[in-house]
Amino acid sequence: MRSPVAPLAVFLVLVLPLTALAEPHGALAEREMRALAEQFPGRMAGSERERAAAEYLAGRLADFGYEPVLRAFPVTYSFHPLGGGDAREREAVSHNVVAEVAGRSERLIIVGAHYDTAVARNAGQAEAGIGGPALEGVDDNASGTGALLELARRLADAEPEHGIRFIFFGAEEVGLLGARHAVAEMDEQERERVVLMINIDSIITGDRLYVHAGPSTIDSHPIAASTRDEALGIAAGLGIELRTNPGRNADYPEGTGCCSDQAAFDEAGIPVINLEATNWNLGDLDGYQQTEISDAFPAGETWHKARLDRLNYLQTHLPEGRLGQRPAEVVAILLPLIEQLSGLPAADQD
Ligand SMILES: [Zn+2]
Repeated sequence: MRSPVAPLAVFLVLVLPLTALAEPHGALAEREMRALAEQFPGRMAGSERERAAAEYLAGRLADFGYEPVLRAFPVTYSFHPLGGGDAREREAVSHNVVAEVAGRSERLIIVGAHYDTAVARNAGQAEAGIGGPALEGVDDNASGTGALLELARRLADAEPEHGIRFIFFGAEEVGLLGARHAVAEMDEQERERVVLMINIDSIITGDRLYVHAGPSTIDSHPIAASTRDEALGIAAGLGIELRTNPGRNADYPEGTGCCSDQAAFDEAGIPVINLEATNWNLGDLDGYQQTEISDAFPAGETWHKARLDRLNYLQTHLPEGRLGQRPAEVVAILLPLIEQLSGLPAADQD
């Protein structure tokens, strides 16, 4: 005899995984950050490890119900092997991993983060332990990649007015090549359909979390500054400390940032905001120094250094709980922001 509870059990099994993610904000993001760092160190542009990471990300997106695509593009650059030796040329193929939530309008929100890790571009960098096959790239940028995966997971079943395109960029570290390829793939009409591009890069090491608008489009596209300010308001409402560049260095005007994949979009006339963690009050006031100089962080940063930008090291030397806290904060800010931009009703906060 059939149990009367069976249909309900079947219903729950089928429906629950497709509805709200019951975990708190940031849990999936932190898990995926750790997975990328541990399983795919040395994700250098065009390397086999970068390719394996791309396939891993595509697999996760497929698990969430997307139909991800790998968009291939050529990369050519010279690098120095760790341990010395002459410069080598690498001619290879890198990939962007792209997944999309369809919208009812033709307009589009793009949310991106790069998943590759740095390479030594000269002998000095190789000697300093920059790049190489052991670089976990936790801060830069498994952290943004994990946050992007969680946002994709949480929005997988959304039915927004405007589409949401997630792009996991390859080859950021050798000249924003993935982002430049993504921009080049869009014709002028498609570029004009982009409401805003949002980038996430390096959210762990830096003392403070920031949001900036793009310097090239901040005046021509008011949505960049207004969305930046909306992010600041959302964070304040949640009790999360979020700032923007105070503009103490004339090369980097107040409220704007630079230097990651969003720059390729900004330069092409597409409005952008970017989230990062650093400290714009230190060093040359250029956002490069991430934290105070200390025994653990002799230059006040972890950029591209295999010895420093790794899970065990950051866990030991950063304030307790940082590796969970920042992904949670970034997801908590960006999820309602993307919902607003794409015309979705705000979901209940966890
Ligand atoms: Zn980066």
